[in-house]
Amino acid sequence: MTSGTCLCGACRFETSAPPLGPSMCHCALCRAQSGGVWSSAYVARADLHISGPVKWFASSANARRGFCPDCGSFLFWEALDETTTSFSLGSIKNPTGIKLEKHIFTANKGDYYDITDGLPQKE
Ligand SMILES: [Zn+2]
Ligand SMILES: [Zn+2]
Repeated sequence: MTSGTCLCGACRFETSAPPLGPSMCHCALCRAQSGGVWSSAYVARADLHISGPVKWFASSANARRGFCPDCGSFLFWEALDETTTSFSLGSIKNPTGIKLEKHIFTANKGDYYDITDGLPQKE
């Protein structure tokens, strides 16, 4: 079982499915919303149980982002044409049992840091 909460605890999620594709996203949207990079994994939407007053924001024509309206935690990302939901790894207490597999959108990363962990990078 994997479960997480926002910072204030109002929004929660849990899944019994294994988290897929753990990645760290360096795109400009994730950086702007999270204040840093956004780490997430995904499961089938039907396998993710979300509770609380999650608010969804259309961040582009084909994706939306879910966050807690009380504390602002960035919790979820969904592509409208896919059947999965990505959830924030930062919302899960240690030990998560999850290992990052890759960095994505590294072409858009901030110029104030370097990626030095040796994991695969996708521009
Ligand atoms: Zn909250
Ligand atoms: Zn991103």
